[in-house]
Amino acid sequence: MSTFDEQFIREDARDVAVVAKADVVVVGGGSAGLTAAISAARNGCSVTLLERYHHLGGMASGGMVLVLDDMANGNEITVSGIVDEFIHRMSKEGMAVFPPESDRLGTVEMSRKWRRWGVHNFHSKADPQPITYAVAFDPDSWKRTSLALLKENDIDLRLHSVFSEAIVEDGKVRGVICQTNVGRQAILGDIIVDATGDLNVAASAGADFIQGQYIVTTVFRLAHVDVEEAERFEYEHPEEHKKLDREARRILGGAWNMWWLKTPIPGVIWCNCPHMPGYDGISPEGLTAAEYDGRERMMKLFEYAKGHLPGFQNSYLLGAAEQVGVRQTRLLKGEYVVTKDDVVNRKHFADTVCRGRDYYTPYRALLPQKLDRLIIAGRHYSAEPDAQKMSREIPPCMMQGEAAGVAASLSLQNNVSLRDVDPGAIQKTMRAQGADPGDVPSPNAA
Ligand SMILES: Cc1cc2nc3c(=O)[nH]c(=O)nc-3n(C[C@H](O)[C@H](O)[C@H](O)COP(=O)(O)OP(=O)(O)OC[C@H]3O[C@@H](n4cnc5c(N)ncnc54)[C@H](O)[C@@H]3O)c2cc1C
Repeated sequence: MSTFDEQFIREDARDVAVVAKADVVVVGGGSAGLTAAISAARNGCSVTLLERYHHLGGMASGGMVLVLDDMANGNEITVSGIVDEFIHRMSKEGMAVFPPESDRLGTVEMSRKWRRWGVHNFHSKADPQPITYAVAFDPDSWKRTSLALLKENDIDLRLHSVFSEAIVEDGKVRGVICQTNVGRQAILGDIIVDATGDLNVAASAGADFIQGQYIVTTVFRLAHVDVEEAERFEYEHPEEHKKLDREARRILGGAWNMWWLKTPIPGVIWCNCPHMPGYDGISPEGLTAAEYDGRERMMKLFEYAKGHLPGFQNSYLLGAAEQVGVRQTRLLKGEYVVTKDDVVNRKHFADTVCRGRDYYTPYRALLPQKLDRLIIAGRHYSAEPDAQKMSREIPPCMMQGEAAGVAASLSLQNNVSLRDVDPGAIQKTMRAQGADPGDVPSPNAA
């Protein structure tokens, strides 16, 4: 029996059943965790993937973040690999939309045709911002694709498994304990991949981290929007549109200029807003408060849009995302911490194993200091908070996962610690499986 006083509960020691063992255990089924699991499995590892929710995709589906961007450096496509399989499969269902190469131009005509899909280069200072390679997709199609790929690759998926503690022995991470509806369960692995986005496993194992924080967002979707009418008004009455749009963003209390975007389902738009600063994106208190705030702002915006914005009069609220959109929490303080200068100046590293738009990620940024048998992938990678803000999009997170899966398999095959895996071998394997590891810098790299 546990003992307690008013401040602390002391739990008794208890036995936890080991319910699974695998070469590689991936914790977190978001975009990074999915590619880590698939990549490790394709390189010969048995893989168990643990996810706390009933769905896969993390922010990309549950958070309803519905554009894959940061995939191109001008006209050069810089992100490729398992991400292409997701795009291809969703596209076959009619649930992924991207501009053909001939439309990727900086003309007014192409801007009007494509901007509201969120596929313009929003880093560009040009006016209009050029259309680039990016992909608008549907969240349920993402979930279906994820399940299909896991099944095809024989990955042992355990949903409804909330990671709670890392099992560490002599600085080596040996497995994890999950809380489930049927009690606590232990899962053992030779390599553990932390893909929780919040660095839950590494933090629990004692890794150093930086406590980051950024705006959070309750993304929502509206249905039955007359998008043609909305766009016609925007382009035919720019001054009036600006005024109404400014008021919409004031009501939201902060939003990007393009706060609504089209989705592959006609008449359904996703609203990548509001921006809510000051919330702790990990604690139950912070996330609960954000849920209330986000939904209140969503309702106010919806009422305003219905009453004032052309094209929105007959719209319906389709609902808020299942998860509050969290951009940044804990960030690993790994073997190398990527700086804002590295990202802005496009610094290339000899041990680059993956990349985003025009920036490069060294293998060392996926490795914790001190701890062994643990690698991380995703938005909690080792970067300064300001560097992470500009390098955390879904495709680069997927590339990190793919590289982490390869690194895990090489570590096991060669019987060396993750720290001693040769980055050159990771690059070679990445290339062999159709991924761009960023080993060859683009002409604009530093
Ligand atoms: C509002 C918003 C808008 C954005 N806009 C864009 C955009 O337009 N385009 C773009 O490319 N990117 C965008 N991003 C960034 C991008 O969505 C994320 O950085 C990226 O999806 C992160 O992927 P991840 O796999 O690292 O983490 P996540 O997607 O957060 O995945 C982590 C996974 O781990 C699981 N997990 C966490 N804790 C536990 C636990 N204790 N036990 C078990 N499982 C656990 C989660 O449930 C989740 O499935 C946006 C982000 C937000 C929040």
